[in-house]
Amino acid sequence: MNLDFSPQEEAFRREVRAFIARALPADIRARVRAGRPVGKDDTVRWQKILFARGWIAPGWPRAHGGAAWSPTERYLFDCETVAGDAPFVNPFGLDRVAPVLIRYGTPEQQRQFLPRILDSSDWWCQGYSEPGAGSDLAALATRAVADGDGYRVSGQKTWTSFAHCADWMFCLARTSVEARPQDGISFLLVDMRAPGVTVRPIEILDGLPHVSEVYLDDVRVPAAHRVGAEGRGWECAKYLLGFERIQIAEVPQSKRLLATLKRIAARERPGAGPLARDARFADRVARVEIDLLAHEVTVLRALAEFAAGRAPGPRASMLKLVGAEIRQRLTDLIVAALGSASLRYEPALVEAPGEAGEAAAQVAHWLYSRASSIYGGSNEIQRNILAKAVLGL
Ligand SMILES: Cc1cc2nc3c(=O)[nH]c(=O)nc-3n(C[C@H](O)[C@H](O)[C@H](O)COP(=O)(O)OP(=O)(O)OC[C@H]3O[C@@H](n4cnc5c(N)ncnc54)[C@H](O)[C@@H]3O)c2cc1C
Repeated sequence: MNLDFSPQEEAFRREVRAFIARALPADIRARVRAGRPVGKDDTVRWQKILFARGWIAPGWPRAHGGAAWSPTERYLFDCETVAGDAPFVNPFGLDRVAPVLIRYGTPEQQRQFLPRILDSSDWWCQGYSEPGAGSDLAALATRAVADGDGYRVSGQKTWTSFAHCADWMFCLARTSVEARPQDGISFLLVDMRAPGVTVRPIEILDGLPHVSEVYLDDVRVPAAHRVGAEGRGWECAKYLLGFERIQIAEVPQSKRLLATLKRIAARERPGAGPLARDARFADRVARVEIDLLAHEVTVLRALAEFAAGRAPGPRASMLKLVGAEIRQRLTDLIVAALGSASLRYEPALVEAPGEAGEAAAQVAHWLYSRASSIYGGSNEIQRNILAKAVLGL
């Protein structure tokens, strides 16, 4: 199996690199480089620049305004955008609900929603998890009761990323109770401004606004906003989760964390010299760097299989599991390298100028990265999948 990039792919990489160097606004680049959170306004500003270049929707077909890139081109694009200090685009519209609409949506739904995702007019969030349904998603209890030409939806979603600033939420709701819990679930598009929708932010470890509870109290959803057949939402839900797989390996992000770690560890410490010269610390850095390299090769193998027309299947669980562990180890080491500068943390400090703000921003990453072994399917669940479906245990 050839894991090298072709000359065309290398040329594409150079083109992306040059574009980011030229087009990314300096103030956004500076925020990302310092590790500070990037708000919705700045993210939308960057998304509109990508939109104007025709690069906002890498995997969409050209007929819908996408770039129709291969998974390898997408990977190279992600590597270059992260290395060039560009912010994350919001994936819930572009990379989650859009592929579902393209595959299962009606032409009217595609016309209504896709252009507004492309030009960042609408922001989306994902309402799958509930207080009693996370790993066991099919246990979800949100009900959608038929009402004329639509539904009345009631229930509670939780851990909903971006809900506090989203215009729409795609969600799973039970339209009937069947013997198999996966049956009777429908895939609905909910207007976040509809009467009966209440969003309550949840404060997680870093104290920054990431996730919310979303209460649905008798919310009217027209049948025209159900994607796919009634009761067949599980198929859409599973199709959508397949789009997380390569990205959730988080190789480009971990490479940037490694670069940050090396930069911080190279600093002079009063009376002690740089931590990078401490043999035990250097050993821990080398081990995680080697594991990251091996992880990247695994991702490249998965990409080569994609290119050969083979989906990675359950082995993709390894990408999520190892990616989350590496990210957590890197942020552990960054906090250790910051030493006493990491001891004082409060959310507002991430905006402080200079090294105090930079240290707080890294601590915020460390705190948030505890969640990487939970979201996108917990690491225990990934181990179960690997044990059963790959190792046959
Ligand atoms: C920061 C963050 C952002 C999120 N964003 C979103 C979002 O935008 N939209 C959304 O829908 N959801 C989101 N989630 C929710 C996430 O998908 C769930 O938290 C996750 O699926 C785990 O579900 P749970 O929290 O209900 O935990 P549970 O399923 O209750 O699990 C609790 C613990 O038990 C373990 N466990 C459960 N079942 C098994 C088993 N069979 N074998 C072994 N161990 C098991 C789990 O690994 C975990 O350690 C987010 C979560 C976080 C933390």
